[in-house]
Amino acid sequence: MSEFLLELFYIVGCITFIVGLKMLSSPDSARKGNTIAAAGMILAIIGTILFYRNEAGEPVGNIPWIIGGLVIGGGLGYLMAVKVQMTAMPQMVSFFNGTGGACSALIAAMELFSSPSTETGFLVVAYLGIGIGTITFSGSMVAFGKLDDKISDIRSRIMPYVNLVLFAVVFGLIGYATFAPQAMGDTAGWWLLGIALIYGILFVMPIGGADMPVVIALLNSLSGIAGAFGGLLYGNRIMLIGGILVGASGLILTALMCKAMNRSLMNVLIGNFGGGASGGGGAAGDQTIREATVNDVAIMCAYASKVAIVPGYGLAVAQAQHACHEFEKLLEDKGVDVYYAIHPVAGRMPGHMNVLLAEADVPYPKLVEMDDANPIMPNTDVVIVVGANDVVNPAAETDPGSPIYGMPVIKVWEAKSVIVMKRSMRPGYAGIENPLFFHERTKMLFGDAKDTMNKLIAELKTL
Ligand code: NDP
Repeated sequence: MSEFLLELFYIVGCITFIVGLKMLSSPDSARKGNTIAAAGMILAIIGTILFYRNEAGEPVGNIPWIIGGLVIGGGLGYLMAVKVQMTAMPQMVSFFNGTGGACSALIAAMELFSSPSTETGFLVVAYLGIGIGTITFSGSMVAFGKLDDKISDIRSRIMPYVNLVLFAVVFGLIGYATFAPQAMGDTAGWWLLGIALIYGILFVMPIGGADMPVVIALLNSLSGIAGAFGGLLYGNRIMLIGGILVGASGLILTALMCKAMNRSLMNVLIGNFGGGASGGGGAAGDQTIREATVNDVAIMCAYASKVAIVPGYGLAVAQAQHACHEFEKLLEDKGVDVYYAIHPVAGRMPGHMNVLLAEADVPYPKLVEMDDANPIMPNTDVVIVVGANDVVNPAAETDPGSPIYGMPVIKVWEAKSVIVMKRSMRPGYAGIENPLFFHERTKMLFGDAKDTMNKLIAELKTL
């Protein structure tokens, strides 16, 4: 009976994961999807505690430890989720990926060190769990530090080679320890832990600027794969399915992000892309910039027939999404057609802009993806770039020497006029200068995006 009930809980749990994942594909249903999948996870945990029996027919032991872990982990997770600023979400995602990886590595290490088995199937799964889980842990923690500006990029020409050697050593050791289990005994597990830890750090360390989203998606996928190995070790189907779903969706996201940046994964991992170029503020050489006033911009927009808003990371920093929505509604009331042009890697995490704008109740059909927005740019009268920089940089198309050359961007310079809202001439995440700011059709409107938007709203109301 226990076995039947456990299976029932697991099947319901699996269904909720799949339904939840499906609902995450639209901002309208994403919140509900997340709750449904989380409820499925809680069901699976309750089912395991109540109905799991080992081969000797014994129930789960160590209940106080399990409950203690649930309360402490759940409490900390809740507090972090409630307190986190919207701009710090990517760091938090990275941190959680890392803890998932650490958890899978610990599970695999415990099983390996406590079991006398030398069966090949068991060993390969345990070593892969340790290796991939540890790489996920250390890589994600470095990604967390970099996104939080606590760690800066460290690169050198030899790093890609060192990383390739370490990669080969990690997987060579897994193969050797699996097929010659007597040769190293338990020390293989310890060596693997140490080398994988170093490899995770060194593999994320040199990855800069615009490549971070791909790495985060990849680490997310690795955390799922490591979890799936934990599921295989325990013969636990829901852990296996959960891990596979995270692993597969993370891989799909990685592939989509690579496509959005027009780069291969290999190129991302060893290409040392992004960052490094001009880091300073101010206009280079004798390039001149043109400034607009709030009044100019309000008039331009009020009398335009089509206006595009291109949000970027600065919108998130300023928390200007609600003001943006109000500005858009005011323009619509004046008969202006307004749309948001969304770049897939705008902001600091996949879907960042979609989440922010959904939070401000911007209707989803108003969000136009980059591939659909670019063809309508020439028919757009005014583009307002709100705290975006790299994703509207024409150097991606025109300058083969630019680190972002080849990355698809929103071609705002093809519109009739462009207004760029930001606080200064400082570069964006990739650390490179943006020729858009000196373009003949561009005017800069300096200031915090939310303040400026609020001033624009006030000005529009007087027109
Ligand atoms: P960028 O980081 O290129 O530029 C953001 C701009 O916002 C800055 O130039 C900054 O200029 C401005 N800004 C910051 N705060 C404010 C504020 N309060 N008010 C107004 N402006 C502000 O952002 P994009 O969205 O254009 O590009 C995203 C970049 O981040 C890409 O390179 C992408 O690859 C990378 N990335 C993306 C991730 C993802 O998953 N989406 C994850 C990690 C990185 P100033 O300081 O002068 O105000």
